[in-house]
Amino acid sequence: MGSAVVSGYSILGSMKNAIYVLLDHRNGRARRVSLETLALAQKMSVESGLSLHPVILGGNIRPLVEQVRVYRTDSVLMVEDPKLAEYDPDFYCEALIQILKDRPQILLMGHTYQNIDFAPKLAAAMNKALLTDCIGYRRDGNDFLFIRQMFRNRLNAEVNIESERPWIVTVQTGAFTVDELREGRTDLVQRSVNLSAVIGQRKNLRTFKVFKSKVDLAKARVIVSVGRGIKNAENMKIVEEFAEVLGAEIAGSRPVVDNEWLERDRQIGSSGQTVAPRLYIACGISGAIQHIIGMKNSTYIVAINRDPNAPIFGIATYGIVGDLFEIIPALTRELRKEANL
Ligand code: FAD
Repeated sequence: MGSAVVSGYSILGSMKNAIYVLLDHRNGRARRVSLETLALAQKMSVESGLSLHPVILGGNIRPLVEQVRVYRTDSVLMVEDPKLAEYDPDFYCEALIQILKDRPQILLMGHTYQNIDFAPKLAAAMNKALLTDCIGYRRDGNDFLFIRQMFRNRLNAEVNIESERPWIVTVQTGAFTVDELREGRTDLVQRSVNLSAVIGQRKNLRTFKVFKSKVDLAKARVIVSVGRGIKNAENMKIVEEFAEVLGAEIAGSRPVVDNEWLERDRQIGSSGQTVAPRLYIACGISGAIQHIIGMKNSTYIVAINRDPNAPIFGIATYGIVGDLFEIIPALTRELRKEANL
């Protein structure tokens, strides 16, 4: 691929056979989920023959655009305008409405707070379908079905979108991995949008991080991690005893943290910490993709789960199928005996 900068629309004749990926960014860097979404889009592009074009909106985005150009796509669409420097749904929607006049097949974007803030407005303004929080896709003839979870993730639904193109689809954090991104330098296309008719109605006061960890589990050699299978806060005691005898740090899945059985700092996964201890013992954790992404690089993974089909067994080095309320106290007793405690 060449590296020419092309202004205007001249090379966009084939955009009707394109996938666009909106790259959400913060502090001059693409959000991880945006790059995960790009990895998904690369796969879809290869399988379908549709061309692939990341779209970047913002104020001063040239350095970011250069970062993204290292990934294999057909061109990067750079939409630089001072009115897009700070996120505002009105300006973002109008810019995208103008860009989507190219009529790509699909606009993909990460399921971030920002994207999901304006995506319904965009879809409604364009009278197009919006499908949110997808975890995958399946080829269906010449087309795509998208997969999303339902009923608290107990069921995966394949969704066939019937509205006119472009479809607008958001992708769940952790569903794809940036490790799969393929490199290859691409063209840059500068696009201009006319935002003069948009009246800004908002002022951003400050941007804040929802969660900042105080406990650094990245250095832990052994982690005992607990999931919803523990059932309530009182039962955490058996895990604490187990961790103590092992000299391990305690961590947990998101439901455990949401239920306040464990501090938020100890959540592992896509919206928590990423760890790679020598030993990770997952107790009553099903193995959802958002959890796996935070611990899959552990050297040894031991999973205790009463469901033999729990996905966690798919990545476990050793699996114990059984009731954690029997297994954990038994292991604690044996370890205490070993250590003469
Ligand atoms: P469940 O899925 O309910 O699994 C409980 C497991 O315990 C089951 O497998 C069951 O068989 C087993 N069990 C029950 N009783 C026993 C028993 N007596 N003995 C042995 N086993 C038993 N999740 C995270 O963990 N981290 C994240 O960072 C994270 N981020 C997310 C971000 C987003 C945007 C979204 C949408 C979701 C996120 N999630 C995250 C949630 C994730 O999708 C799963 O819902 C969550 O990981 C499930 O937690 P769990 O395995 O503890 O619970």
